[in-house]
Amino acid sequence: MFLSKYFLPIVKNTPKDAQIVSHRLMMRSGMIKQDAAGIYSWLPLGLKVLKKISSIIVEEQNNSGAHEMLMPTIQSADLWRESGRYDDYGLEMLRIKDRHERDILFGPTNEEMITDIFRTNIKSYRSLPLNLYQIQWKFRDEIRPRFGVMRGREFLMKDGYSFDIDKDTSYEAYNKMFISYLKIFNKLGLTAMPMEADTGPIGGDRSHEFIILAETGESKVFYDRKWKNLNIDIEKISYDENLQKIVDRYTSLYAATDEKHDPSKINKNDLLETRGIEVGHIFHFGTKYSESMGAKVVLPDGSLKPVFMGSYGIGVSRLVGAIIESSHDEAGIKWPIQVAPFDVAIVNLSVGNDSCDTIAHSIYNSLKSFGKDILYDDTKESAGSKLASMDLIGIPYQVIVGPRLAKDNKFEIKSRLTDETNIISFQQLYEFIK
Ligand code: ATP
Ligand code: MG
Repeated sequence: MFLSKYFLPIVKNTPKDAQIVSHRLMMRSGMIKQDAAGIYSWLPLGLKVLKKISSIIVEEQNNSGAHEMLMPTIQSADLWRESGRYDDYGLEMLRIKDRHERDILFGPTNEEMITDIFRTNIKSYRSLPLNLYQIQWKFRDEIRPRFGVMRGREFLMKDGYSFDIDKDTSYEAYNKMFISYLKIFNKLGLTAMPMEADTGPIGGDRSHEFIILAETGESKVFYDRKWKNLNIDIEKISYDENLQKIVDRYTSLYAATDEKHDPSKINKNDLLETRGIEVGHIFHFGTKYSESMGAKVVLPDGSLKPVFMGSYGIGVSRLVGAIIESSHDEAGIKWPIQVAPFDVAIVNLSVGNDSCDTIAHSIYNSLKSFGKDILYDDTKESAGSKLASMDLIGIPYQVIVGPRLAKDNKFEIKSRLTDETNIISFQQLYEFIK
């Protein structure tokens, strides 16, 4: 991609209302534009990151045996009346009337709709277990939308739902998601701590939140200092193992959010208190919705039984902010390679200079032939401003081509993650790519 032809509206000044670093950096680097309180447009650079995160989630959820689908954002109020949540949900639900005066709503979550899909299509225990998920926009009319995409009103969520024949297999499904979530956050370059949590309006008997430690997080969290020594290689864990054992290891050390914190459960000397960002939340709620909405399966003896369910959420758009909170410096974002909007940036410091143009173009073409996604700064901005913008948008590698080195067929290569710079020749680039 040639920067001169791209849509990357970089903002020089720090937006006044942005209180936390991820919000400031997302606005400045032209990733998002606020359209109303808690409602954002995702501009090209932001959307690239959002899609990369989504595809890592999809890949790992599919590995776990879940199936992706897509439900509408608009739901009928009648479904929510069946579960009894239409009146309970409160002001966070955006309620709408259509032209026939029928009550509809913009979905804040999808337990009712998925239960309806299940009961319409599944009749026998033989179709279980089943796990269905989607990545879809949600709307919650938050009382205080803030911190950019971290607490929006419209936000992208991965929501999944498991269906099982009894409590034990349903807990197995819950454990599978517990592990899958840890794998996802690990793949995104984040350390997420599972913490016992309240079930809130979703309800249920078992629930964990996945929290990323960060000073700017909204939740106060408490955990055992020994957590850092809990060396589990999550990547190596297979979904076929006895997952209860691994979940038990993760939950053996104290970790709780503010609402669940109980100082009597932990030795004072081991207790650490900090703040965190909730990036995922899983619930086991058994038959809460299947009973009220009649989602039953026929057992081998011909009797009918309500299915056991769990639901599993990840804040996909919130993750964009959470990753920035945990990976940035004064100058800007430092994208982990796997979610970076581009793999490599090429900065031509002297557009119009023959040797610079030739080298920059050859680098562009050869990186492209290796399948790399490249942002090539071919604009006529000043060198200082170009380098500052590249540091701001945080692409993991910068190839900097300037007239002094170009004379000898050399250029600089900078890792944005370590800020380490090396001078290399075109021949060495091949080694580097490998
Ligand atoms: P919170 O406690 O932050 O209000 P929640 O418990 O209401 O979240 P869930 O229903 O568990 O949220 O939703 C699943 C995930 O969706 C959360 O873990 C979070 O990452 C994300 N999420 C929830 N609300 C928002 C929001 N307003 N903006 C962005 N992401 C959100
Ligand atoms: Mg929650």
